[in-house]
Amino acid sequence: MSGTFLGMPAFPEAAREAVADPVLRANLRHATHTIREKRARAVAELDDWALLREAGKAIKDRTLRHLDTYLVQLEEAVTAAGGTVHWAADAAEANRVVTGLVKATGEREVVKVKSMATQEIGLNEALEAEGISAYETDLAELIVQLGEDRPSHILVPAIHRNRGEIRDVFRDRMADWGRPAPDDLTDAPADLAEAARLHLREKFLRAKVGISGANFMVAETGTLVVVESEGNGRMCLTLPETLISVVGIEKVVPTWRDLEVFLQTLPRSSTAERMNPYTSMWTGTADADGPGAFHLVLLDNGRTGALADEVGRQALRCIRCSACLNVCPVYERAGGHAYGSVYPGPIGAILTPQLRGTASDIDASLPYASSLCGACYDVCPVAIDIPEVLVHLRGEIAGRGGKGHRLERAAMRAATWLLDHPGALATGERLASATRAAHPSRPPGAGAWTEGRDLPELPERPFRDWWKRNRA
Ligand code: SF4
Repeated sequence: MSGTFLGMPAFPEAAREAVADPVLRANLRHATHTIREKRARAVAELDDWALLREAGKAIKDRTLRHLDTYLVQLEEAVTAAGGTVHWAADAAEANRVVTGLVKATGEREVVKVKSMATQEIGLNEALEAEGISAYETDLAELIVQLGEDRPSHILVPAIHRNRGEIRDVFRDRMADWGRPAPDDLTDAPADLAEAARLHLREKFLRAKVGISGANFMVAETGTLVVVESEGNGRMCLTLPETLISVVGIEKVVPTWRDLEVFLQTLPRSSTAERMNPYTSMWTGTADADGPGAFHLVLLDNGRTGALADEVGRQALRCIRCSACLNVCPVYERAGGHAYGSVYPGPIGAILTPQLRGTASDIDASLPYASSLCGACYDVCPVAIDIPEVLVHLRGEIAGRGGKGHRLERAAMRAATWLLDHPGALATGERLASATRAAHPSRPPGAGAWTEGRDLPELPERPFRDWWKRNRA
């Protein structure tokens, strides 16, 4: 069982611990800088990168505008190909459907392909509550699961761990889950990979049920697509008798032609590869080839709410490449756990509050977990304007005048009134200039916001008076 994000404090508090941990910061800095440099080189190889980015954005926007049509088309195609489609409004319903399907097979264990959607709904925990063991088979997910840890990155969930820590996790915990790690296990990458390979192989060969997500779903044929680097996905998608895929409704693309764009942008943005080592595609079921039963669980869980928000809906374009995490100065220092969600970093700061709402301290704090530098927007392969959504969400939160925003709201109201009354504004400016020697360098009562900022020094006289005297 992995750790849980339930009950996390607000981002600044959660980040404090990470920022004070020099080992964690060194791990994150090394990993994010390595990936971001490789990505930049892979992207620079393509002369038409900007066009691909625009095409990806346009395809996603068009698909989201007609999502109802494409989802129904997808359902018809999956059904015609021998699969069964289930609709899940929220996490509880999705978990109910999946646990019911697994129980119906009579199996007590499943193998899993790395999947953000199943993490989002807490599927492993729901399966465990029903006495079903879910084995993560992606290497990084395995490290997180064995270490009873929480994921801290979309693509590399154990990015906060270094090789020595991973060796310790394998040595201490593998035996509890199956084949133990060798006694003489070192922290060499090849040794760690071999230990994981041997540990997982017996699970692949034994499992009768596989659970996956999908990177894309092609509406015109009902085909699901999983891209990955390790081959564990291919094992889980082909060996079991029953395959259950839990996929967010925004993952649909209309045609194979549309898919072509993302199969170019996703690998370069995520792993800095020209193409993924493993791209698995399947359409329903086929006699004597792959799983004999296929179930697709289409997950809403807050997505239609996000879709209704004209500014926020662009977050649903996300293809989970994680490029925005790797360039984010806040993520690099705070790490992924501080975001209190399986979606960390800049995309998490705009997606989580839309999927979960902003009632909790952590969710209401996420849109503020950014310097608004815009590096995330620059690298996003589907051109999600993350700073725009962050500011939009901040506006909504502050507009409600919730905890920590009452003063801000009162100040904005006062400013609105003042700007509507030019006479009062002129008097206020003159008064402020006349009393400038007595002004504090920081405004009182604004808390952390002013800790690193000083008030600008006021001129001796307001600009309007200077203008009158010198130019009028
Ligand atoms: S927001 Fe853009 S850069 Fe970030 S994970 Fe999603 S697609 Fe990738």
